[in-house]
Amino acid sequence: MNDLRSIDFFKKKNRQYIVDALTKALIKSEILGYIKELIEKNEPFSVYFMDIDYFKVINDTYGHHIGDNVLMTIANAINSSLDENSILGRFGGDEFIVVQKGVTDYDTKWQMARKICLSVSNLEYNFGVDYVNQTTSITIGVSSFPADANNFNDLIITADKALYRGKQKGRNCFIIYDKAKHEKLKIDSDSQNNLSKQLELIYDKFSNEFNLDVDKILIDLVTELAPLYSIDRVCIKLDDKFDVLYKNEDMLGECYPIPIEKYNEVGYKNNMILAINFRIHYEQTDPEFFKMLEDNNSNAQMVVRIKTHSNKYGYLRLDKFRETIWNSDVKIIFQTLASLYAIELERGIK
Ligand code: GH3
Ligand code: MG
Repeated sequence: MNDLRSIDFFKKKNRQYIVDALTKALIKSEILGYIKELIEKNEPFSVYFMDIDYFKVINDTYGHHIGDNVLMTIANAINSSLDENSILGRFGGDEFIVVQKGVTDYDTKWQMARKICLSVSNLEYNFGVDYVNQTTSITIGVSSFPADANNFNDLIITADKALYRGKQKGRNCFIIYDKAKHEKLKIDSDSQNNLSKQLELIYDKFSNEFNLDVDKILIDLVTELAPLYSIDRVCIKLDDKFDVLYKNEDMLGECYPIPIEKYNEVGYKNNMILAINFRIHYEQTDPEFFKMLEDNNSNAQMVVRIKTHSNKYGYLRLDKFRETIWNSDVKIIFQTLASLYAIELERGIK
């Protein structure tokens, strides 16, 4: 990170005062003051708006004290990912902001945002024996002055829209503001309800008595839900039949069914869900499985069981081209989808 003493704006100030005691990031008024000054001087820069994913869950599960530790750890991780042109500020709560002076090109922003995302998702926590395997992630919205916005208010709005889009897409990702894609986006402060809205959609479609074509319902739902979570391909395997239900046009490569036995081997067992975050994890431990994922162009995969009483048996499989940390919303949504599909399928068979 940039040495504050080298920046005119901070030279006269007392460092102790301008950083947040917990995270050592600049306090909000200071980082915003710095942004305003860069705009005034017409110096190009980029901002990265960041919000920790599901931070409330950490507080609720482990308590505020551990929550504070996590905030501190994440702030350190972000700080370690920064180049010498960048400064970290705390916007409030679990929101952070990075200002990167002199950088507005897409590739540099992409690299930096990815580095920050990975630095947070790679963190390992050890809160004691009862709390193993806790992970964290962060979502980032990036916007640049003057390319995306030529004044302070618009800059904040554009970065916020990009961040919002990232949360909408399933979190643990970054979005670089693109006027054509994001200008019309309306920030819905009620976005927490996305999950309940999507579950309602699934229940509504399946409880429509007049529409008995369960396969069509499944395809319609998958086509609507997959893009919201940046899922690149959705397949279904039922007994010996394997079909692609949805495919993002960028998802290239082969697509063949991975045998259910293979999923049992790598951890599916009796659980309903298997979530693979990073294909690379299997390169050493299970080269055969790694190769299957690689052939299928899948860096991250979630597999949800479909099982009916009449012994139709298979899975719904979600593929992502990029590695990801699957979040609980996706699990809940697709497990619900698979369960209701199985129930309706069975009703049709009888
Ligand atoms: P989302 O993925 O949508 O961001 O979900 P979230 O659970 O992270 O929700 P949100 O960002 O709205 O919530 C942030 C929470 O951070 C709310 C508040 O209880 C907690 N928080 C804010 N400041 C502090 C702090 O200084 N310490 C701790 N431990 N918690 C804080
Ligand atoms: Mg949050």
